[in-house]
Amino acid sequence: MTVRDLVILPDPRLRATCEPVEAVDDEVRCLLDDMLETMYDAPGIGLAAIQVGIPKRLVVIDLAKEEEEPRPLFLVNPEITWTSEETSVYEEGCLSIPEYYEEVERPARCRVRFLDREGREQELECDGLLATCVQHEVDHLNGVLFIDHISKLKRDRVTKKFAKQARRDGTRLAG
Ligand SMILES: [Zn+2]
Repeated sequence: MTVRDLVILPDPRLRATCEPVEAVDDEVRCLLDDMLETMYDAPGIGLAAIQVGIPKRLVVIDLAKEEEEPRPLFLVNPEITWTSEETSVYEEGCLSIPEYYEEVERPARCRVRFLDREGREQELECDGLLATCVQHEVDHLNGVLFIDHISKLKRDRVTKKFAKQARRDGTRLAG
């Protein structure tokens, strides 16, 4: 397993619509394992393939706490089939928008259909943090970021900050 480089805002790849995978083969499993390793290394609780630059509909999630056994969840071609009308608010962050956190309101529960690491069809009913995490990651597959769910004022502020940071890093590399 390899820790891959993370794609960071304002990289335009984060706005890509990702393609479904045709089959869960060894190549896909290898990528899922690399994604998991990258997520644990960061550390984070969820990661979509586009965050390591691969525009495929693949997600890994693990909500286990540090002292608990790992509980990795592999979602291939995930599709949210139902969301509750009831909402909840969580403070979200994103490995592609490091060290920025903001409260986001989303449906409190959802149902997601996907293929697992073995290619078997699964459906999972989610609530709490898992429901938020699944929605955040499926958003990534459609080029949507959590900052799209906050006020325009806050979004513009964080986008500007990261654009400036990227320019500064670019100058440093060039220099
Ligand atoms: Zn994210």
